[in-house]
Amino acid sequence: MAQKIQNKFQLQDNFQRKFYYLRLSVTDVCNFKCQYCLPDGYQPSGKSHSFLALEEIQRVVRAFAHCGTTKVRLTGGEPSLRKDFSDIIHTVAQTKGIVKVATTTNGYRMKKQVKDWKQAGLTHINVSMDSLDPRRFYQITGENKFFEVMAGIERAFEVGFEQVKVNVVLLKGLNSDVLPDFLFWIKDRPIQLRFIELMQTGEMDRLFHQHHVSGVSIRNQLIADGWLQKKRLPSDGPAQVYSHPDYLGEVGLIMPYEKDFCASCNRLRISAKGKLHLCLFGEQGVDLRDLLQQDSQLPFLIDRIHQQLQTKAVSHYLHDGNSGMTPNLASIGG
Ligand code: SAM
Ligand code: SF4
Repeated sequence: MAQKIQNKFQLQDNFQRKFYYLRLSVTDVCNFKCQYCLPDGYQPSGKSHSFLALEEIQRVVRAFAHCGTTKVRLTGGEPSLRKDFSDIIHTVAQTKGIVKVATTTNGYRMKKQVKDWKQAGLTHINVSMDSLDPRRFYQITGENKFFEVMAGIERAFEVGFEQVKVNVVLLKGLNSDVLPDFLFWIKDRPIQLRFIELMQTGEMDRLFHQHHVSGVSIRNQLIADGWLQKKRLPSDGPAQVYSHPDYLGEVGLIMPYEKDFCASCNRLRISAKGKLHLCLFGEQGVDLRDLLQQDSQLPFLIDRIHQQLQTKAVSHYLHDGNSGMTPNLASIGG
């Protein structure tokens, strides 16, 4: 049998975790005001910093692909607010070694643009939809766009996506008690719901204590109803995914506070201003931008990424109340 050849540049940390998945933020800007993320909307920082240009994106993705990355998720802020978003998708999709190009979007521009994104090479899409009740949706996101986002999801199926993933941040008192409604919605639709436990960030304290709820009760309910956990692939995200023979849809649970969550970490992050973040929480990030200016810098860029990876901690230490340097997830690409 042919043996798989090891990539000598494969990204691996001191805890034998291998990294196949890059989450690339392309903007900090967002047009929504989600209570748990940007409750006052996006506030420009005052300092004039531009976000990564297309050529810089191309170089950083090429470096990661060289080091074994096969999947890139474009995120933000709201990635679709970039005027060159389709060009970014195309550039990433054309990079040798990248087989999955995903995005996470609030869905605001999906109805109009998802066809272009698909044609540009987008292979996977996650849409945030925290409630199936339009008024609740407005209350959580600060935007009255429930029906537009729903229409965007339908459009994604029309243009050929076989599955759409829908992110739901679990919020006690706002959406945590409506599992049956969500399950009814996915009975005949190929939607993978992803219930994400609310994560505490630097700008959030009261909201966290008021609304944080564990995903354990949902998991227990699913198991009791005959849902079975699926096997995880090397480039898969952090969700535990469940399926059921009576449902076309699936349910994923993302539980960052669960013991051993970090043991399966396979992803690294680049902020919209070109900093490498080894974890969603806990560090300021290391600037790569000076090495994204010319193609000839590729070997130095790869070197810096490898060096930094050796400093990656074993855990995010969220259990100890650590929310690190991350003010909100929009600032680093959640
Ligand atoms: N604007 C896009 C969106 O909302 O889908 C992409 C960026 S957003 C930061 C990425 C994901 O992070 C969204 O699904 C959002 O609901 C989630 N998120 C943001 N803040 C969070 C928090 N504090 N805890 C858990 N999930 C969070
Ligand atoms: Fe914007 Fe996404 Fe944050 Fe909501 S979660 S404010 S849509 S970046």
